[in-house]
Amino acid sequence: MSDCPFCGIVAGEIPGRIVGENDHAVAFLDANPMAPGHTLVVPREHRERLADATSEETQAVFALLHELAPKIETAVDAEGATVGLNDGSVAGQEVPHVHAHVIPRFPDDDGGPIHVAAGSRPELSDAELDEIAAAIGDD
Ligand code: AMP
Ligand code: ZN
Repeated sequence: MSDCPFCGIVAGEIPGRIVGENDHAVAFLDANPMAPGHTLVVPREHRERLADATSEETQAVFALLHELAPKIETAVDAEGATVGLNDGSVAGQEVPHVHAHVIPRFPDDDGGPIHVAAGSRPELSDAELDEIAAAIGDD
C-alpha cells in the first residue's frame, strides 16, 4: 500500500530502526515509544487486520515476538514486557497495517495490565458466557 508507513519501512523507502526480520515479518523500533525498546512487529505484506493476514504470516510475526522479546528486555534492562496489538480502530489501531507492540515494562512505570485497555468489566451470567463460547466455538 503506497501511503502506508509500515510498508515504507519494510521496503526501505522510509527510515526505520529495524531490529529483526524473518521471511514474512519485520521488527522495528516505535518512532514515538511508550518505553525504551518499544518495538513493533509487522507482516511484510500490507494486512490491515489480524484476520487479513495468512496463517504463515501470523506465525512469522509470533516467531519474531518470541525471538525478540527477551533480547529487547535485556537491551533496555526491563523486568518484563506488555505484548499485544490493537486490532481495529475501535481498539485504538491507528496505522492500518497489522503490528504487534512489545512494550518493555519497569517497576513504577505507571502502566497497568493489558486488561485496562478494555475499559470497565461487564457483568456476564453463566448462561451468557455459555452462549458466547458456543458462538465462538464450533459447537
Ligand atoms: P497503533 O495505535 O496500535 O496503531 O500504534 C501505532 C504505532 O505506530 C504508534 O505507537 C506510533 O508511535 C507508531 N508509528 C507510527 N508511525 C511510525 C513510523 N513511521 N515508524 C515507527 N513507528 C511508527
Ligand atoms: Zn502497510
